[in-house]
Amino acid sequence: MPSRLDKKVVIISGAAMGQGEAHARLLAEAGASVVLGDIDTARGQKVADEIILAGGSAHFAKLDVSSAADWENIVAEAIRVFGKVTGLVNNAGITSAGSVLDCSDETWHRVISVNQTGVFYGMKTVAPAIIDAGGGAIVNTSSTLGFFASPAAYAYQATKGAVRTMTKSAALSLGVQGVRVNSVFPGLVDTPFIDHHRNNSALDNSISRTPLGRIAQPQEISQAVLFLLSDDASYVNGAEIVVDGGMTSGSLGSL
Ligand code: NAD
Repeated sequence: MPSRLDKKVVIISGAAMGQGEAHARLLAEAGASVVLGDIDTARGQKVADEIILAGGSAHFAKLDVSSAADWENIVAEAIRVFGKVTGLVNNAGITSAGSVLDCSDETWHRVISVNQTGVFYGMKTVAPAIIDAGGGAIVNTSSTLGFFASPAAYAYQATKGAVRTMTKSAALSLGVQGVRVNSVFPGLVDTPFIDHHRNNSALDNSISRTPLGRIAQPQEISQAVLFLLSDDASYVNGAEIVVDGGMTSGSLGSL
């Protein structure tokens, strides 16, 4: 029986650890050739080497998502090594502390450049290669903070809301060219991203509001990404898959 991602070549940003690493491992297991991009070259190369040792097909290229030149380079590398590109996971992201009053100019511009401009460059640079390959799919990573607010992480929330509407717009303009564009909305995920919350009450508060009573493992987000990249999702375009254990479905308390 063919694997679900046979013949797919997928670029994954932020693939050196956390969800990106989990995506790379699962997509490779499902038969894709994966091209891992990250600013952390040592860890990214190690993950790619481990995937190859496990029998998968992988390649690492240094990628700072806020650099248009790095995006041009990783697309060229993917085509040089695997001959084409059929998919992209815009996963890399950084968080920010602070409310609207506490958000410094430096934080604002840094978070926008990675989380929002990075997704723009990714789609703009990779989509033409996917069109050349005859079509494919893009998955963008938003967050539950992309559609509901907290008082903190102001810059982060701005970017994740933007990713939501950028995805919808691209689903319209790229969909007519055979590129499906969808987004995933993780709740809290057990990665280094949330390490700053491990010793405070924010994590416990979130868990207490989550019907499933725990945070996600990164592989649980990867399963949604795998579906969206596969031909099983051949009519799914412009969709938003929330993977948050039900946290944002409503209040757990009675009326
Ligand atoms: P993580 O911090 O564990 O990993 C992020 C990866 O991105 C790292 O490998 C890092 O080196 C890389 N990276 C950072 N800046 C980069 C840049 N400029 N260019 C390329 N790579 C860069 O985070 P994670 O939990 O795996 O998060 C992945 C995505 O999921 C992010 O977009 C994040 O906003 C989103 N998200 C995370 C959570 C969570 O609770 N962990 C929840 C909702 C959404």
